[in-house]
Amino acid sequence: MEDCLFCKIIAGEIPSTKVYENDKVYAFRDIAPAAPEHVVIVPKAHICCANKITSENSSCVADIFEAIPEIAKTVGVAEDGYRIVNNCGKNGGQTVMHLHFHLLGGSSGGKMY
Ligand code: 5GP
Ligand code: ZN
Repeated sequence: MEDCLFCKIIAGEIPSTKVYENDKVYAFRDIAPAAPEHVVIVPKAHICCANKITSENSSCVADIFEAIPEIAKTVGVAEDGYRIVNNCGKNGGQTVMHLHFHLLGGSSGGKMY
């Protein structure tokens, strides 16, 4: 997808610090970490946001969640735990319109609200 930051990161056109990759999923360190360990996990297929998940493309969500235990282990947060966050749209605070999940760990995230 043209002009999508995360598609460019997946394609290697923009550098990133890779944490994990398979044929469906790419995970990299967030450029502005909000926690000691902050990984962004994306499907390689371009889907703009949670609003566009359908029965046709929802397997990408399972692909991501199947990768999460290994990603958590890789960055050393599997045992102590972590938070998975998806921001959707304007009020969700989504700034990059390519579906992604944040893995936040390394310290207690406290309550959500
Ligand atoms: P959102 O706010 O859309 O849920 O999350 C987008 C995330 O992407 C933000 O946490 C932001 O710091 C991160 N981000 C934006 N641009 C880049 C970049 O060029 N490289 C990396 N590694 N992360 C980025
Ligand atoms: Zn994209």
